[in-house]
Amino acid sequence: MIDNITYNDFVNKVHSSSDIIKVISAYVPLKKRGHNYWGCCPFHQEKTPSFSVVPDEGFFYCFGCHTGGNVFKFLSLVENISYGDAIKLQAERLNIPIPQKKKSDREIEHENNIKNLYRIHEMAQAFFHNCLTKTSYGKPGLLYLKKRGINNDIINLFHLGFAPPGWDKLSSAFIKRGINENLLLQVGLIVKKKTSGYYDRFRERIIIPIKDEKGRTVGFGARLIKDGQPKYLNSPETLLFNKRNLLFGLNESKKYIRQYDYAIIVEGYMDAIALASHNIANSVASLGTAFTAEQCKKILRYTSNIYFCYDGDSAGQNATLRALSIARGQHAAVKVILLPDGSKDPDEFLQKHDAAAFNKLIDNAVSFIDFHLHYIMQNIDYTSLEGKLKAVSFILPILSSIDNLVESNAYAVKVSQTLGIDETDLRNELQKYRKHSNQSSAPSNFQISQTINSAGDSAAIKAGRHIITRIWQEPDVLDYILATTPINEFENKQHREILTFLTEQIHNNNFINDITASEKLSDDSYTELSRCLVEKKNTNESKLLDDYLKIIHRAHLEKSYLEHSLRADELERSGDDRFQQELIKIQRIRKEMDGVK
Ligand SMILES: [Zn+2]
Repeated sequence: MIDNITYNDFVNKVHSSSDIIKVISAYVPLKKRGHNYWGCCPFHQEKTPSFSVVPDEGFFYCFGCHTGGNVFKFLSLVENISYGDAIKLQAERLNIPIPQKKKSDREIEHENNIKNLYRIHEMAQAFFHNCLTKTSYGKPGLLYLKKRGINNDIINLFHLGFAPPGWDKLSSAFIKRGINENLLLQVGLIVKKKTSGYYDRFRERIIIPIKDEKGRTVGFGARLIKDGQPKYLNSPETLLFNKRNLLFGLNESKKYIRQYDYAIIVEGYMDAIALASHNIANSVASLGTAFTAEQCKKILRYTSNIYFCYDGDSAGQNATLRALSIARGQHAAVKVILLPDGSKDPDEFLQKHDAAAFNKLIDNAVSFIDFHLHYIMQNIDYTSLEGKLKAVSFILPILSSIDNLVESNAYAVKVSQTLGIDETDLRNELQKYRKHSNQSSAPSNFQISQTINSAGDSAAIKAGRHIITRIWQEPDVLDYILATTPINEFENKQHREILTFLTEQIHNNNFINDITASEKLSDDSYTELSRCLVEKKNTNESKLLDDYLKIIHRAHLEKSYLEHSLRADELERSGDDRFQQELIKIQRIRKEMDGVK
């Protein structure tokens, strides 16, 4: 056993001996353009590169599927191993001897903390389940579930529960049992009041425990049983609860996924529960619309066949397109289950139809090309010439991604028939496209995917990225930045976390690099940091630091202007005099806003 200083030395040695370009190039052909290297992302399916590496900073980031990190993160994802094992793998490749690691006090403390977090989730799950099944508080919950056809077997299988009404049922019970309130706060079971004290986050809701694939509860979803908002409420992201890495229901369904040799991926946990109630036991929920490469890897341990059944609305359709590209990038065989008009999601479909009807939908699941055609028919008016061109440019990259010629020919026929285009014309276009995309991997004429432009992001978010990059490269500017713009003025949560981390490191004279960042930041913030650093090298935009700070400050003022205006309206409507004070505040903000134009 060796002590921790030596282990850190070992990690640093492996890190400094690793050339991120060389490591990634072994998996992905990269081409240099400007400061960045570009290639087709190994974590999702694409023809034009949106995967970029900056060797100076030691980060990679994909603008298509938003995966990013340092060299070890890359190895852990591409080899499907843990971060620690990725360090060891790289050490082996570099012939650096691996020391036996002795745990530091901090690591022991961290492990104990994790154990406590698991324990508290376990206790809370039992509390809610008990409340549903054994107390009078749970009656409305049971009634609601029964009405939706969810029987006791399913309630017990998923350990469904009910959060009692009242503001402190859980917190007072847990604090009586000696649970530290900080721990409850940390897992989001209680919420801090604005004044002082706490209240229970979940009240009068059906509780759906969200478990990892080992069956350990790591978070909760909660659904209202009456009308109101928000209909769904989830645990906040914690050390254990990271939605990117979780699939709801995997622990319960993995046996069946393996047995039937395919998995059905739905958006929400209520969809997965509804399917299970109808004896369709091989489904999991991706917990929202963004299917990730990490989730895909988990499925691939049990089957290589994935059927997506996302919501029928346009958000669901777009999510399906993205999910298909990620799954195909991981070499999964994919299909899409289409819901008939009038059914929002699988849950709603199963309220009106039986299992046999859903099984018929499964039998009729369409190929990924057919789904793209379906998408065109729903979203593009292909009767006009302009629409036809749009449809063709949408479908060409998809057709050209099929390696099997027989298959791609069959689809070319189908596409030309559906869109009413001459088949020869389509084939010519396809050939041109193929030639062009082969050429474009040559450095002289290198096309980079359009997805990298962050048009959807606000000016304040972009400014936040520039400021973070600036501090990373030049830590001395930090104090100036903090003096003019406090961290809470940054609207993006990940940016605030990154800035807090940077401040801590810099003020303690600690070294900042990708390793410390990966240890200290949450997954989402670490990925966002990768994006900041990779994106900066890619744009030539160079405003002055003060301009970026002004953008942040102004966005912050606009937000509080809006908040106070809404509050003033509310107070005035309810005849509350305090709206006058709000008006004064609004005027003051307005004046300040005029000052930072
Ligand atoms: Zn990607």
